[in-house]
Amino acid sequence: MSVALTLGLTHKCCDCGIALKKEEIAYEIRGEYIDYIEHIPGDISIILCSGCRERMLHNMQSSQGDAILKRKMIEKDGPGPLKPLVFPEPEIDDFRTPDSAGTGM
Ligand SMILES: [Zn+2]
Repeated sequence: MSVALTLGLTHKCCDCGIALKKEEIAYEIRGEYIDYIEHIPGDISIILCSGCRERMLHNMQSSQGDAILKRKMIEKDGPGPLKPLVFPEPEIDDFRTPDSAGTGM
């Protein structure tokens, strides 16, 4: 990705992980959290892209019955969403800051 295309990508969607420009932030949640896995409370600011905003609002508005059906669908072939997630190794990209790119910007 060229330096010009990465300029302004200063934020990140906390759900899908895509880089965002400030003006692309669709939703922000600020407040307190409790991590029930690590037993740690704290303050948090979460930003979302428009797609994750839509998905979150849809999930918030759906019924508990719909949530149970969704879990049954996911778990029909075995253990479901409570398995730990495995993330792939991060890829090394060609992102360079404007100074190190030698563009004089
Ligand atoms: Zn997202």
